[in-house]
Amino acid sequence: MTENTVLTCAELLAAVSAPEGAGVEVRDPATGEVVGRAPQSTAEDLDAAVERAHAAQRDWAKLSHEERSAHLHRAADAIEANADALAELLSREQGKPVKNGPNAMFEVGGCVAWTRSAASFPMEPEVVADDESGRSEVHWVPLGVVGGIGPWNWPMMISVWQIAPALRMGNTIVLKPSEYTPLSVLALAHVMNTALPADVLQVLPGDGALGRAFTAHPRIDKITFTGSTATGKAIMKGAADDLKRLTLELGGNDAGIVLDDADPKAIAEGLFWGAFINTGQTCAALKRLYVPDALYDAVCEELVAVARRMPMGPGLEEENVLGPLQNRAQYEIVERLVQAAKDGGGRVLLGGDPDPERPGLFYPTTIVADLDNDNPLVAEEQFGPALPIVRYTDLEQAIEWANGLDVGLGASVWSADPQRAKEVAMRLEAGSVWINKHGTIDPRVPFGGVKHSGMGREFGVLGLKEMAEAKSISV
Ligand code: NAD
Repeated sequence: MTENTVLTCAELLAAVSAPEGAGVEVRDPATGEVVGRAPQSTAEDLDAAVERAHAAQRDWAKLSHEERSAHLHRAADAIEANADALAELLSREQGKPVKNGPNAMFEVGGCVAWTRSAASFPMEPEVVADDESGRSEVHWVPLGVVGGIGPWNWPMMISVWQIAPALRMGNTIVLKPSEYTPLSVLALAHVMNTALPADVLQVLPGDGALGRAFTAHPRIDKITFTGSTATGKAIMKGAADDLKRLTLELGGNDAGIVLDDADPKAIAEGLFWGAFINTGQTCAALKRLYVPDALYDAVCEELVAVARRMPMGPGLEEENVLGPLQNRAQYEIVERLVQAAKDGGGRVLLGGDPDPERPGLFYPTTIVADLDNDNPLVAEEQFGPALPIVRYTDLEQAIEWANGLDVGLGASVWSADPQRAKEVAMRLEAGSVWINKHGTIDPRVPFGGVKHSGMGREFGVLGLKEMAEAKSISV
């Protein structure tokens, strides 16, 4: 296969699946049908992959930035050429709609955009002093072999967030995708590898035990991890012995505050997509909404009206904009937290009552009003299609509630007055704050969390520097 080869979904699956009888079954969350079989890697496979990655890194690091960027642009071309097949596989494995809404094609498009972006920033040595005392430069040199560990919600795009900056900066990378979505990441790497030298990008599927082997591996120089806060903490402990470099993109529970000058009708669609993108399975989705007395009924009404128009169903059926939950464990978290909201006196405005006869892991779009701020649906990361609404009288109280958790990935402020919104935004404890939108990301804009939502930043020049060591040369 060359970078110009265009594969069908069936051909991609055949290229990456384990043979009949080997590996583990991967099922479509919308139908329960088997999508393929994922090979399972062992700790010995990891040793061998890391050896190959070190050998490949020596030559890869010798290439200039321009040469590595050219490889990455060709890898992006290959993704673009195979976008239809990649999106179909992603939809079947992860569940998201292929074409409608922020969907599988959108995710594959993101893979192209983030690969090109990482290839495009200039990366010159910085001259930080040049005077009678001498000249000092900062060079950004490779770390060596990076280990990437990823989640199941945006498996291809998040892999690219790890792959592209690591490669651009002269490292090689070994990835461990989530055990729920290994085929998507294997297929993505299969396509990208048509444009890359051997062994600079390798994927080893496996579960948390293999993830622990990554963290403990003495020859992996850095772990870049996206997943839950609990796993992030385990990785940080595991990485302590050999002081591995870390980037941790962890869980969130993003707050949105509507100010009393907002137009409920104008913001309703933005609120909907902020909360329900990817059926709510998004780290930086709107997870708790604070609405002032004056607008409370109107915001609830407009939001429910938008949500009612958004069909949920199997991702391969064209009309759907929301898919199923990806796995049973996630479904049970949503079920438990919506039940807690009902038990706590929440008023269910929409959904909240899954159809037991419906096949697939479909939990209906759910909006619950009148909740106390300490209800579990508000206070815990729910990571699914349920949005709790909390009424406030005093803006200071809403800001305190928004900042009251130990996570801080994203947040949003909704207002007709951009200056007032920005003043509130500056007071919210989060890595990203959006005004009149939520969760929209841009490959140029640093992304990451404060508090227990992580450490380090991805995207942009800051993200590239996370994949390098600063080396000062002073003359
Ligand atoms: P998870 O932490 O359960 O799993 C993530 C990955 O870690 C998987 O590949 C898993 O196999 C691996 N893993 C599990 N235990 C491990 C261990 N002890 N050592 C090393 N690796 C281990 O997370 P998930 O359920 O896949 O993803 C959902 C979570 O990810 C949510 O909390 C969400 O907010 C977060 N997330 C964060 C971002 C971000 O950018 N901050 C993006 C997406 C998802």
